Amino acid sequence: MKQDRENLLDLRPADVVARLRTFAAEHDVAAYRGNQVARRLWTTPVRSFAEIAELPAAFREHLDTAFVLPRLELVTRQESADGTQKFLFRLPDGESIETVTIPDGNRLTACISSQAGCALQCAFCATGAMGFARNLAPWEIAGQVRELMLLDPPLRPTNVVFMGMGEPLMNWRNVDVALTLLNDPAAIGIGARHITVSTVGVLPGIEALAARPEQFRLAISVHAPLDELRQKLMPVNTKYPLASVIAAARGFVRRVTFEYVLLGGVNDAQDHAARLAALAIACGAFVNLIPLHPGGSRGFSQSTPGATAAFARTLRARGVEVAVRKSRGLDISAACGQLRVERLGRRPPTRAHEDADVHVA
Ligand code: SF4
Repeated sequence: MKQDRENLLDLRPADVVARLRTFAAEHDVAAYRGNQVARRLWTTPVRSFAEIAELPAAFREHLDTAFVLPRLELVTRQESADGTQKFLFRLPDGESIETVTIPDGNRLTACISSQAGCALQCAFCATGAMGFARNLAPWEIAGQVRELMLLDPPLRPTNVVFMGMGEPLMNWRNVDVALTLLNDPAAIGIGARHITVSTVGVLPGIEALAARPEQFRLAISVHAPLDELRQKLMPVNTKYPLASVIAAARGFVRRVTFEYVLLGGVNDAQDHAARLAALAIACGAFVNLIPLHPGGSRGFSQSTPGATAAFARTLRARGVEVAVRKSRGLDISAACGQLRVERLGRRPPTRAHEDADVHVA
């Protein structure tokens, strides 16, 4: 029965190989055929089993009867003058998510989503404003990269950041599998040091990420160096206050990055810079200063170039390594969640504690 077909894309590579080798044997086909199929799921992906030309035709039909390779449906693709591209994908249940690719020299970074919407309602974020729908399955997370590879092989990213829609560590169970799919050489094979999980500071998730043996990177959205201000910008600060987040960053097994969106007249004063420097030094963090994307910014404005430069100078003068990011994709609604909101409208906001589907590791 076609509707009962098993989804191979939700399995870890080792499990998929075992499953397919058994399946091959059950159909009187050499077990190595199972490895051939497994390679075509993620490493050099195909749209359907029919495309795996190296397999006997009858075995391809057996595969199609037993298994499914679900797709993300491309709704919109926009390209900015600076090369940034934004993709809106529809999921099988009608929800939609965004993926952004950002070229920079030899690097191509894919910014991927981990949830449809987000429950955390950061004050400056278009995704937060749309509310939470559901967690993405492993195949829907890693599948964003798979779709890029199917659309256009040069779009295979060199780097992946979990900075699209959603809070990845509120969906740890599925992000955990997706990290394996992205990193394992038997799947997509992107080096762990080129994969960054970005979080507001969900402590159980940080511990779970730290427990993985691979060198995945951790970025923490700080956005304010004081609880009172952070509370206003990021309601999740009630549950995970700054001190606990900083302690988790200090205890993380590898060097962390602080993400700090500069909001004009809100968090970009010299005093903020000095306090942020103290926090960064306390845990040896690198600081990324991010200009606010003007689209979907909900009443906030960008810091002036002068305020941005002064902020960075204060950090550097205190011994903090800092990068000032460029705003990319200004002409294509590339702020997280912005394209979806423009195309499909908002849904009523949902708070994390009201939604039983929000999974904290
Ligand atoms: S900034 Fe991230 S965590 Fe905050 S509401 Fe937006 S998607 Fe959620």
